[in-house]
This record gives sequence, C-alpha cells and structure tokens, in this order.
Amino acid sequence: MADFNAFAVAQQQIDTCAQILELPSSVHEMLRAPKREIRVSLPVKMDDGSVKVFRGFRVQYNDALGPTKGGIRFHPDETIDTVRALAAWMTWKCALVDIPLGGAKGGVICDPKQMSAGELERLSRAYIRAMARFIGPETDIPAPDVYTTPQMMAWMMDEYSTIRQKNQFGVITGKPLPVGGSAGRGDATARGGWYVIREAAEVCGVELDGAIVAIQGYGNAGAYAARLATETYGCKVIAVSDSKGGITNRNGLEPDAVARHKADTGSVVGFPGSEPVSNEALLELDVDILIPAALENVITESNAPNVKAKIVGELANGPTSPEADDILHAGGVHVLPDFLCNAGGVTVSYFEMVQNAYMYYWDLEQVHRRLDATMTTAYRAVLDVAREYNINMRQAAYVVAVRRVTEAMQLRGWV
Ligand code: GLU
Repeated sequence: MADFNAFAVAQQQIDTCAQILELPSSVHEMLRAPKREIRVSLPVKMDDGSVKVFRGFRVQYNDALGPTKGGIRFHPDETIDTVRALAAWMTWKCALVDIPLGGAKGGVICDPKQMSAGELERLSRAYIRAMARFIGPETDIPAPDVYTTPQMMAWMMDEYSTIRQKNQFGVITGKPLPVGGSAGRGDATARGGWYVIREAAEVCGVELDGAIVAIQGYGNAGAYAARLATETYGCKVIAVSDSKGGITNRNGLEPDAVARHKADTGSVVGFPGSEPVSNEALLELDVDILIPAALENVITESNAPNVKAKIVGELANGPTSPEADDILHAGGVHVLPDFLCNAGGVTVSYFEMVQNAYMYYWDLEQVHRRLDATMTTAYRAVLDVAREYNINMRQAAYVVAVRRVTEAMQLRGWV
C-alpha cells in the first residue's frame, strides 16, 4: 500500500479515456492535471494549551461545467496526491450525473479520532479561515467526506458567514437540517448507490429479494447501505466491517443493531452472534453484491481473481485498481464505478445548494424522486456506452463524463 498513489491511478484512467475518445492533446493535458491547488498551514490551540500546526489542502480540479464541488477529508494519511485524485473523480462524478458543477476536494492531515469536539471545531474553523478567499457559493462548495460530519459543516458554514458578515448557507453542503441542510442528504450516497445497484441487478438477472450482500466499511455510506439493503430491497447482509475488523453471520446481520453496537463500543467487531472476518477476507466472500464503502485501493490484482460477487457497487472512492478492473471485467463481474455509484451524495448536495439559493425547501419524497431519476439516467447512459464501445463500465463512465467536460471547455474557448 505504501507505494500506492491514487493520482497516478486517476491519470492512468484519464489516459485510457483519452485514447478511446482520441482526445486532442490540449484537452488531454487539461484533464490530467488540476487547475488550481491550495496548501495551507493551520495553527490550532489544543485542549492542553499547546498549539499544533495542521497541514491542509484544497484542489480545484476543473470548473468548466460550473463552480467546483467536493468534500473535505480529515485523515492521518492524507496526501496532496490523494486529494488531487479525489478532486479529479469529483469532476467526472458531477459531469456524469449531469449537474452544473465542476470537481474539487479538500483534506487535512489529522487524526479526528484522537481529537476532542472543541479541537475539531477549532480545526474546522481554521480550515475555512485559510480557504475563505478561494471558496464560496459561486466558486467552490465543500461538503463532508471521510471523517467529517454535518456538525463540522455547520461550524464551517458559520465561520464563512462570519467572515462575509452575512448568512452564507450555500457555501457548504451536508449541513444539519436546521441550518440549511437538505432532507435526504444523510443517506444520499448509499441510497443513490442502491438505485444504481437496483438497475444493475435487473440487467444482470440478480433477484434483489434475498440477495446476499457484503459491505466493507461502516461509516456514513456503509451503514446506510446496510440498512437500505435489508429494509428497502429485502437483501441479506452477511458481512460488514470497519477499520478495526469485520463480522459475518450467514443468517444475516441486523444493520441497526450493528450500528448501535458500533456506537457503543467504537467498532462493529464483537457484535453478538457474529464470527470475525478480516477486511481482506470479506471482499472474497461468496455473495451476490459486494459494496466497498471505505477507502481507496482495496480490490487489487492480488485479490480481484477471488472476488465472487456478481455486482460490485463502489460506494468508496477509488477502491479498485486499474489492473483489478481488467480482471473483474474479464471475469464477468459487473462493476459500478465509484463516480457513478457514489454520486448520490453530491447529487443531493446540489439539491441542497439549489434549496439554499431559493430559500425554499423540498420534502423527502421530492428529494428521493429526483435522486432516483438522476442516478437511473446516469446508469443507463454508462451502460449504453459500455455496450456501444465494448468497454468496461468505468471506461464507459469516463467516456460519458469526459465528453461533457470537454464540450464545455471547447465551448468556453479553453481548448
Ligand atoms: N464527499 C462526497 C463525494 O465524494 C460528496 C461531495 C459533495 O457532496 O460535494 O462524492
């Protein structure tokens, strides 16, 4: 894992797409590097009176289609290259679901699990103070991502509003409901992913009622995905995991009870009635649907031949390496690539921005209906291109997204 570079993977993917589409070199050059990168140092007063300096990043990858959009990650292993890759993937994600936004990503090197609420609030506010001149409702709109929460979004929105001396709800999405959040944003990533899996299951002839599911990761995406799997689609979730390890039960796990166990103990591990399973072994279980919902680079050339799932729904960003992609495709596994499968989060973020701008809020039913339409349309567009060009689903998703970004860049006279 040490030599894994997510941005090298992102560039390799864009290179393949450039070949398929025979892109002019100017377009290819624009697409394989970020438009703007910001690096900041953030001094934060810690609870013990000391000052700790955190490093933060924001990469604004491409804004041809609109203001850049993308989450902020708080993670000890954060690197500029990871943020670049994730910003690129946000660009393709927004283009693919056809929302008028570009792509960005932010990150801070820190370990939020070792920090108090007060320290996290001061870090969140420091990040926004440092970035304030580069973000805004019409410029770049952050959101939650790995280890950042709606509460942190509220602090960040408040800090930005204080700087601008007026309420600026639209500067950030994924906020709690009372301060400009949208109905349905909480489970939007998982729900959007399930709309796509539902369509894929029909294409692959997988009966969802009773289908066997394994989920790697039990954060915002994974935990909601487990709940939707059982409650909405009648699937049986036989294994889940988090950073501390995994659990399995062939008779099915009860997602809410697992979530309560994690809330009480800090992990899914040790859930009563379950057997332990490693994060690696979970990926190779005999299931119909596998949902990687944690971090990058977990399905690689070494374990891809052992993946038994018929459908892989990537709720994580970047879970599959390019070599693994080829192996899965050759083995007939239907992979729903990350920037298609997890685009539900940013789609409802976009709905949140629209509601903030109009100061008029939608009900849950309206959010779900629009999200379903957006995700289903995107899936069909990707499937059509995959069949037309005889390429895998990720390459097809690239073709759809890159065509749109390229057309916008050309119309604007950039390339
Ligand atoms: N962090 C999420 C993603 O990777 C959501 C981004 C957003 O809502 O802007 O798609």
